[in-house]
Amino acid sequence: MRRVEIEFDAHDRIVGDRPFHIHRNPDGKVKEWACNSPYCEDVAASTTPHPDDGGPEPVVQGREPWRGLR
Ligand SMILES: [Zn+2]
Repeated sequence: MRRVEIEFDAHDRIVGDRPFHIHRNPDGKVKEWACNSPYCEDVAASTTPHPDDGGPEPVVQGREPWRGLR
């Protein structure tokens, strides 16, 4: 058995080794991009603009903006 290597590019939002999902936005400049934020897995089923297309930046686990505010 060979392991399948998946290459990520600069548009992808992969942090650590969590399972990733694919966001798709057929109308955008970035039509498909990989992401492994644990906070948008529900969103990944629908069309999600890439941050370069005006979409929200996925929240990185461990750097949640709602942490450390107080
Ligand atoms: Zn995502």
